[in-house]
Amino acid sequence: MLKSSSSLDRREVLATLGLAALAMPSFAKSPPPSITTPNAPPRRDPQPPPAAPAGRTPPADLGLFDEALGQFVLPPLPYAADALEPHIDARTMEIHHGRHHAAYVSGANKALSELARIRAAGGDPGLVKHWANQLSFHLGGHINHTLFWNMMAPTGRPVTGPVPGPTPGGPLARAIAASFGTFEQLVAQFRSTAVSVEGSGWAWIAVEPWSKQLLVIQQEKQQDLWVTGAQPVLGVDVWEHAYYLRYQNKRADYVNAFLNVVNWDFCESLYARAVR
Ligand code: MN
Repeated sequence: MLKSSSSLDRREVLATLGLAALAMPSFAKSPPPSITTPNAPPRRDPQPPPAAPAGRTPPADLGLFDEALGQFVLPPLPYAADALEPHIDARTMEIHHGRHHAAYVSGANKALSELARIRAAGGDPGLVKHWANQLSFHLGGHINHTLFWNMMAPTGRPVTGPVPGPTPGGPLARAIAASFGTFEQLVAQFRSTAVSVEGSGWAWIAVEPWSKQLLVIQQEKQQDLWVTGAQPVLGVDVWEHAYYLRYQNKRADYVNAFLNVVNWDFCESLYARAVR
């Protein structure tokens, strides 16, 4: 189950630091507030939210924050490191999760603890900008990677061609048709978006929460170019550390391999959460 209090704590922390836009995967249970005018009549009792689509379980607590410790923590991989072979190799997964992701976790905790120290001890306010930047980068990295591991799953299928085998169903499939035409057109745009990220970053399919549209966007580093409040549905890490051991400079081959291990059930649960 979700730990709503930890979600709220996290959002409060981010809001306090003016970084609410970073809280991309908002796992809070309540929808965003409507914009009202001062003279607007009081709101009626809210309608009950529509039931989740049958067969799609909303994502559980992803275990990225330990409420008792008050710290971000590294969740274990949801499968064995070699489970995505031959698409994503075990050594890459071990280093990516155990070193890179772990460094984002410790970096986010470090930034928050340094900011707390400055507040409590009257430290140098000139360093707030530095630690705020560090918080955006490392906490963005922590959230991105936690989602990323869950956005993949072993398929047991051989390597297929550039159009992936597994496809989404249900409301996400209908939203893809509405926003992109066909699934193949979405995949082509997503692939081009990922391959063309300049330097290190990500490609995402995300729900823009006010228009409820699906967008394909790029993200540089772990946090730049994000659309405020957008809710991730699928993302691929195109930092070289995600693929260089196996694919070297052939990022397109890696993206095609990734598309063979997408966990569309998880993506569909993220979509259902984003639009309810
Ligand atoms: Mn990475």
